[in-house]
Amino acid sequence: MGGNASCDTSVSLADWGRSRHSGTAHVEHVFCVRTVKEPHDTRTKTAMSIRSALTFARVHSVNAKPPTPGSQSSLRESNRARIVEAIRQFGGLTQVELAGATGLSAASVSNIVKELTTLGVVQTAPSTRSGRRAQHVTLARTPGMVGGVQFGLRHMRVALADSAGTILADHQLPLGTDHRADAGLDRAALLIADMLETFDAESSELLSVAVALPAPVQRANGLISSPGILRGWDNVAVSEVMAERINKPVYVANSSNMGALGELRHGAAQGAQHTLYIQVGQRIGAGLIIGGELFWGANGSAGEFGHTTSDPDGQICRCGNRGCLETVAGGNVLLEALRVSHGVMTLKDMMRYAGDGDLGCMRAIADAGRAIGLAAANLCNVFNPERVVVGGDLAKTGAILLDPLRETIERFALPSTAESIHIVPGSLAGDAEIIGTIAYALERSDLLHGYSTQQRPSPLTHTPDPTEDQ
Ligand SMILES: [Zn+2]
Repeated sequence: MGGNASCDTSVSLADWGRSRHSGTAHVEHVFCVRTVKEPHDTRTKTAMSIRSALTFARVHSVNAKPPTPGSQSSLRESNRARIVEAIRQFGGLTQVELAGATGLSAASVSNIVKELTTLGVVQTAPSTRSGRRAQHVTLARTPGMVGGVQFGLRHMRVALADSAGTILADHQLPLGTDHRADAGLDRAALLIADMLETFDAESSELLSVAVALPAPVQRANGLISSPGILRGWDNVAVSEVMAERINKPVYVANSSNMGALGELRHGAAQGAQHTLYIQVGQRIGAGLIIGGELFWGANGSAGEFGHTTSDPDGQICRCGNRGCLETVAGGNVLLEALRVSHGVMTLKDMMRYAGDGDLGCMRAIADAGRAIGLAAANLCNVFNPERVVVGGDLAKTGAILLDPLRETIERFALPSTAESIHIVPGSLAGDAEIIGTIAYALERSDLLHGYSTQQRPSPLTHTPDPTEDQ
């Protein structure tokens, strides 16, 4: 995959990105970020895993027997995967560029591209490069495309998928703290337009776009329903503003709800009728799956688990209430609690130290697990889920968070309720939200070409990695 490419190769591909997109300043920046930094950037792993959700399943499904590690077939599969990764990263490449991106020989690239074309994984089209004939290779796709945009507090992720749910391109870029809504939406719209161009797709092929925001959202108009929670986004009719930019229907939802939908369709909540999905990171959120479907509530803001009261005399929350769960167990609060003993740290630092056995960091995460477990026990008593799926950054610490969370649910939920609950980590890790956002865009689109709820791609199996960034 692209992460194996050398820095030199990556820089040359960045140049390629610049020349190809010389008229689009924002997009140039995206290509630079994702190419020059990629070999050393842990975000790459997140991007890798989302790709593996769909295309890798297709690539690997051609072999009935799993390959033996180190065997010839294992090497061939690994090389195929590198080619697919590189194509997805850049949207499309010539075979010469593929050789540069993967470090494989031109002959190997040619053979693998032929195999992948036969398998229906990629498609080729004649083109010219530097005046010479070349084969432009893109991922094969079914007609119709949807976009998914996920806004975090300091980053934005944009993905483009075909109507079968295969994610064809996936980019992440940083955003300034308290960025403004219009600037973020402008960049998202530019990026989607650029992705479509990369695939030589007409804008008419775009069916819809879904946007996930880390705040409670009114489903009808995309307005954030609690002012102050996401600065710079209050009173912005997100669906309307984004729809004006891309001239397509735009559906807006809360990020945790999208994470729940991702896990329901492709992850750890598959097959369960009633699931509580909890997202634990800088913020705490949840999504309720009832009767096999995401439960939205009266106006779309169901699942605001982080703003359930945990300590009536506690700190004032950004929502205006006092003592919300997020003021007790949110990532920033844990970091603040560790500041005197450990100094200034990031969430990722804290997770790494905890994984290395640092008692203070382990204690902070375990206490958060207990606080979240107590709130979850109350919720489980109310709607009796069969599964609790814990996702978000902090879930990557595994047992450090999950054991105290599980013990607290078992202790405080009614025995009959507790007995029937399976508490598991999310299987999509940092990809749950973007995968859910794509699923939502498809499900809201008028044309669900080939994307049936009965016939979805294989679930992604992902080993949580504490070093991953979201
Ligand atoms: Zn609150």
